[in-house]
Amino acid sequence: MDENLQRPFGEGNTPRIVIVGAGFSGIALGVKLLRAGIQTYDIYEMSPGLGGTWLDNTYPGCEVDVASHVYSYSFAPHDWTRTHASQRELLAYLERVADEFGVRAHIHCGTKVLDAAWDERTHLWTVRLSTGATVSANIVVSAVGMLNQPKYPDWPGLDSFRGPRFHTARWEHQHELAGKTVAVVGTGSTAIQIVPAIAPIVKKVIQFQREPGWITLKGDRDFTPEERDGFRRPLKRRRERLRLSWLLERGVRGGAIYRPGTKTNTAREQYCRALIAKIFADRPDLAAAVTPTYPYPGKRPIFHSTYYQTLKRDNVELVPKAVASVTANAVVDADGVAHEVDVLVLATGFEAARYLPNLAVFGRDGKSIHDVWNGEPQAFLGLTVPGFPNFFMMYGPGTNGGELVSMFERQAEYVARVARRMMRDGVTAVEVKRGWHERYNRWLQSKMQGTSWLLSRNYFTSPTGKVVTQWPFGAILYGLLVKVAGPLSETTRTLREPRGA
Ligand code: NAP
Repeated sequence: MDENLQRPFGEGNTPRIVIVGAGFSGIALGVKLLRAGIQTYDIYEMSPGLGGTWLDNTYPGCEVDVASHVYSYSFAPHDWTRTHASQRELLAYLERVADEFGVRAHIHCGTKVLDAAWDERTHLWTVRLSTGATVSANIVVSAVGMLNQPKYPDWPGLDSFRGPRFHTARWEHQHELAGKTVAVVGTGSTAIQIVPAIAPIVKKVIQFQREPGWITLKGDRDFTPEERDGFRRPLKRRRERLRLSWLLERGVRGGAIYRPGTKTNTAREQYCRALIAKIFADRPDLAAAVTPTYPYPGKRPIFHSTYYQTLKRDNVELVPKAVASVTANAVVDADGVAHEVDVLVLATGFEAARYLPNLAVFGRDGKSIHDVWNGEPQAFLGLTVPGFPNFFMMYGPGTNGGELVSMFERQAEYVARVARRMMRDGVTAVEVKRGWHERYNRWLQSKMQGTSWLLSRNYFTSPTGKVVTQWPFGAILYGLLVKVAGPLSETTRTLREPRGA
């Protein structure tokens, strides 16, 4: 047999893999590849450090709203100090995992992947980097996340604002907020964390709300020393992780929580309404302002313990109006009222539904993935797209939901399995069958029908009105599909004269 055919991937006979992004999902993939015996990968990260969203977001009050014991890798337990870890603790955790599991040596920070193009003659990807270098790879994986491109508004006059103004994911820490009047625009999960964190130090917060979100109490607190001692015991820690995962799984069982009219959905909406009624019993004006007019959850549900109470502070004003324009020293609301402010914080979210906003990917026929999507990103299991062999997305279209970190692990296992399949079977191209991709996406879209996501403005929706980001079930069903349907969906090819990358 031709020696090349026995060893299509070069010396080590493991595929060369380029991973774009060193956040939660890219690091998970790095670990799973090493565990599969694959050392031949590089992670390119455009930021100066690893951590992804937990590196970018350093705004006051930033912490995860999923319990720490489940918002972490199953293979890397941690001595969490809080029920919900802060940004600092999460970033330190990711740094530790990258070091302890040997991923760090594969990460190249400050290096942006400009584009990746598949070459059908060689069955290789050509990847261009911001350093000017070009690398070849058998497999390319996008691990760029979903909430990575800040959404900047285009309000008239925005550039004329004389004070500091910045997006929450690009917080400018050099500006002293004490004694200042600070405008916070938005009422998503980010703004809801910032307002209670800065209210005690600033002169005044003016929060602009276009549409309120449905808010649930988060129940965050520091663990007691006794609890931390307990969680250092593997059995106890595992039980806690299982318990929390099951709670999350049960919460989204069958997707009922997203469907107005179901028992689960009605109960959750009633809980939120009762919370508003209780906290704002003495402030009917605020109760009316913060009550959504669309069915639960409509948008990403918000979790916070003290936000509603903070709105009752004397130095906090909720303006239940969209921002219409900005002047040199004021934010003008949709009613034309100008609110004088010193600092303007844009908590206006991310370009979530655009997918791969900074990465051009060209597939088998030279077409870019964005042209193929034509404004409606979709993929099989969020991972693969026909016409793009050996290209995978972590946290791709239709995977936002369930318990994210365990979904990242399933996606990482999928990629590691494909890499091993290529080695085992000597195949050089693995691609999802078009029929599987189409049937799967028809099924997924059918599950969006009847959800409140279609009845509200949210970042899940493409400009054409299709919900493209969401996974409407739990992590267990997703994991099962990845394991069972993944291998069945694939078609493979072998280059007659393969070359190592
Ligand atoms: P977001 O949920 O997209 O919120 C953006 C906000 O800006 C919305 O309230 C939006 O109003 C508002 N907005 C946009 N233009 C406006 C205008 N002209 N006037 C007034 N308001 C305007 O973004 P985010 O809060 O950054 O959160 C994004 C996601 O990040 C979350 O959903 C969550 O998945 C994640 N996150 C997670 C955590 C965590 O603890 N794990 C913390 C923070 C964020 P509309 O609602 O009317 O569009």
